[in-house]
Amino acid sequence: MKNEMARTRWAILFGAAILLSACATQNPNLYSALWVQTAAEYRAEALETYTAAMSQLDEALLDRSWTAAVEQTGDYMGLPPAVILDIDETVLDNAPFQGQLILDKMPFDPARWDEWVAMEAATAIPGALDFVREAARRGVAVFYITNRSCAGADKDPGCAQETHTIRNLARLGFPETPPDRILLKGEQPGWTSEKKSRRSAVAQRHRILMLVGDDLGDFLPDVASGIDPDQRKDLVDRYKDRWGRKWFILPNPVYGSWERVLVAPKAAHVRGF
Ligand SMILES: [Mg+2]
Repeated sequence: MKNEMARTRWAILFGAAILLSACATQNPNLYSALWVQTAAEYRAEALETYTAAMSQLDEALLDRSWTAAVEQTGDYMGLPPAVILDIDETVLDNAPFQGQLILDKMPFDPARWDEWVAMEAATAIPGALDFVREAARRGVAVFYITNRSCAGADKDPGCAQETHTIRNLARLGFPETPPDRILLKGEQPGWTSEKKSRRSAVAQRHRILMLVGDDLGDFLPDVASGIDPDQRKDLVDRYKDRWGRKWFILPNPVYGSWERVLVAPKAAHVRGF
């Protein structure tokens, strides 16, 4: 009897392993997308992140030497305060889009992404709305730096994704977002997916209290290519005093620069770290 039970248990475990590996083969994003969509633990982490950010607002506002951005230089102490947030998987939740890609067995597709953005149907990441409202109430300028994109003045006059994103935020009850407070990829010459030039642009006129994002590139320059995973971990450690104090990160196991550097990480000596 005991042997039979043990055999049954191993059969179940073996079956579960086969099932898991079959699902993983089907789509590597299945479980990470399910976690974001269904796990209460994800919701708790998002709320925790924004509660922590909210709790730092007072100190950040009072201390004029406080800045969150490595791009902030010069005499910034008298500048008006601002916070910078990423949009996707930081403020807006695109889980239905990711889920549909999995169901359709499709990789990321820019045309389908355009359609999704145009639907203005993304929901708010837990905690984001309260944080942005509170920052705005205290007179802090809220900037969004996003890799949602503009195709340039010729091809995309008015920048359709900017308009849709502003409307999507408004529908969810976010404070009004003037177009100059949302900085999209390609909106200005030199604004590539690398966000440092856009952080620098904000830093020229504002003291940046906090950065909120779901990707290391929302905080640090040059971390999305030409760098390997260990170097990225070293950078996290180098700036360890900022996490949870000036930098606030949301979990995103579905996509991000963390996976892109796995495809072609460069050896440490190439970068000279
Ligand atoms: Mg993001």
